[in-house]
Amino acid sequence: MSDLLLQLGGNKAARTVISSLGLPVPPQLRRGRGPWADRPLDDRTVLVGGPGGALHPTLGSILAAAGASVGAAAGADEAPYDAAAEAWSRPGPDPEEVASDALVFDATGLSDAAGLRALYDFFHPRIRGVRRCGRVVVLGRREGDASTDGEAAAAAALDGFTRSLAKELGRRGSTANLVRVAPGAEDRLEPVLRFLLSDRSTYISGQPWTVTADVAGEPPGAARRPLDGKVVMVTGAARGIGAATARRLALEGAKVVCLDRPADDGAVAELAHEVAGVPLPVDVTDPEAPTRIAAALTGLGGAYAVVHNAGITRDKTLGRMSEDGWDLLMDVNLGAILRIHAALAGSDGPLLDGGRVVLLSSIAGLAGNVGQTNYAASKAAVAGLVRRLAPGLAPRGIAVNAVAPGFIETRLTAAIPFATREAARRLCNLSQGGLPIDVAEALTFLCSPGARGVTGNVLRVCGGSLVGA
Ligand code: NAD
Repeated sequence: MSDLLLQLGGNKAARTVISSLGLPVPPQLRRGRGPWADRPLDDRTVLVGGPGGALHPTLGSILAAAGASVGAAAGADEAPYDAAAEAWSRPGPDPEEVASDALVFDATGLSDAAGLRALYDFFHPRIRGVRRCGRVVVLGRREGDASTDGEAAAAAALDGFTRSLAKELGRRGSTANLVRVAPGAEDRLEPVLRFLLSDRSTYISGQPWTVTADVAGEPPGAARRPLDGKVVMVTGAARGIGAATARRLALEGAKVVCLDRPADDGAVAELAHEVAGVPLPVDVTDPEAPTRIAAALTGLGGAYAVVHNAGITRDKTLGRMSEDGWDLLMDVNLGAILRIHAALAGSDGPLLDGGRVVLLSSIAGLAGNVGQTNYAASKAAVAGLVRRLAPGLAPRGIAVNAVAPGFIETRLTAAIPFATREAARRLCNLSQGGLPIDVAEALTFLCSPGARGVTGNVLRVCGGSLVGA
């Protein structure tokens, strides 16, 4: 379903007319294309700050390796470069005077109310210099890791700060996100930072991510084609988010098992052919589904990752909802996931150690929505399931996460009545709906070896939606 306001916003004259009517002009967003690059931040200027932060000294080399020109905040008490970064970077003139594509602030050293002033000191002179579709990442600690009341309060403050900044930046298509790094997980930050600072995180805004050392296993290998030769199953792959994800995973080298209902076997076969994957026409609610899926994946040598994406809506207020509307939805969106996961992740199941499991939740599940008691219950259940499964699978090196999309332009949202659809599109920092590719990018990242620091997270891909924020 096309977004007329977004299309008109691409035209300068129309933009002026829309603004004069007091309507929000949705910014044109920049999205990455093709597979991941070695240097996703080539030609980007990233300014770094964060007095006394524990992560500060390594940021220079992480960012420089990603291709960025790194500038230190003037007056920083320690240069954020190490030898490698010095060789790659062109710090240039006083960063306060240059425009930038991204700001990264290490707030791990802030330990009380007065210390939070460092946020103002760093961002105030630089925030207006962030170019369109820019990125802000704030790095902090989890409240639970604090050793004083002041540290805990300062860690919590970062959440409100980042969410507010994300709202201020949205008009220009820019985003701000918070990454909480657990002590001991510092070496797992790099892939997360590369992803969030790149054009792959376009529709992720105002969100807290947590990086831990919980998941066992080896450091990731190559940044390019990280899924080469790995088998990844996507359920509900015939269209929408599932189809975009299958294409995206294949670009990173995955052999994608494309599962959808037998009634959609034409679309599934076509997609599987396009991505050189394997079609699997199975209804996830079929009692035989767990056995058939497990057999198919075992036949392929096991599955590295599974994306439980198949889902349906059956919207009605509770008093008007039919039994079927409740039962079928709960079985597709939750019951089938539980049964299939048990068959795949059990001791003799085909899910490989070191793998990834990603489930699709929804911001409706986190916030609740009129006419969606069934859907919200199933999607909140998915979020809870992730929190339960993650610790149990971490010793096997398996990370488990959920993605909670906001308003994404697919068949599912095209069915929403016009007025509600318009409101849902505009009520986010970026004033527009996301595209299936935006969710696919997040799912692909979470399936990658580099995401081993991220487990038990429910990550919203919602453009900073006000719903349930
Ligand atoms: P979609 O309707 O475009 O695609 C869903 C796919 O799941 C379809 O191909 C469908 O055939 C398949 N499917 C449904 N029942 C199945 C079954 N019994 N067995 C096998 N496959 C089945 O939906 P979408 O918008 O791409 O949504 C994908 C996921 O993202 C869903 O879980 C949905 O709840 C979630 N989500 C979507 C949005 C959004 O705005 N589009 C928002 C939040 C969450």
